Amino acid sequence: MKYFILFGPPGAGKGTQATAMVEKYNLRHISTGELLRKEIAAGSELGLKAKSLIDAGALVPDEIVEGMIESEFRTVKGVNGFLLDGFPRTAAQAEALDKMLSKTSEEVTSVVSIMIPDEMIRERIKHRASIEGRADDASDETITNRIKTYHGKTEPLVEYYKKKGKYSEIDGTGTIEEVREKIFALMDRF
Ligand code: ADP
Repeated sequence: MKYFILFGPPGAGKGTQATAMVEKYNLRHISTGELLRKEIAAGSELGLKAKSLIDAGALVPDEIVEGMIESEFRTVKGVNGFLLDGFPRTAAQAEALDKMLSKTSEEVTSVVSIMIPDEMIRERIKHRASIEGRADDASDETITNRIKTYHGKTEPLVEYYKKKGKYSEIDGTGTIEEVREKIFALMDRF
């Protein structure tokens, strides 16, 4: 199985690009954000716990998302691999992922990182708010916190994967098609 990680700040276009990537390479898209929003919509206990954290721009506890990922790995069949979107988001999650995969002597295939500057993060999220109506896109304070959380907790993973020689970065400021072509050129190597 191949394990691709789609990395980048909120609003970088991960969700948009993920759709094309999973189709071309027959991967299963696992978005922890989407899985959490489903739990919230269903009104589950987990969803209730996650909602206040997500609305504040904070992260939900590592164990929650790690459990979600492991259960997807166990149950999904008939694909060439997985595209992880929004996971790992902390050093502890990255280590947990390595441990999970090592049980079956597997490892992360590659990290595809889409990068955009902070000003563009705000613009893109504002634009998305007017289309999708996500609660965590609506308030400036929440967006500011998400950007802070990204730089503080998630960005250090760049070094983690660079050290392993698994990190590639793509400029996410172009059009959807331009970014997609760059991603495909990269993924064709694996
Ligand atoms: P975006 O990439 O636009 O920030 P996501 O849809 O990936 O949004 O995630 C929305 C929110 O869900 C995050 O701000 C966070 O609170 C929570 N979340 C998603 N993935 C994780 C994760 N791996 N660890 C902890 N919290 C997460």
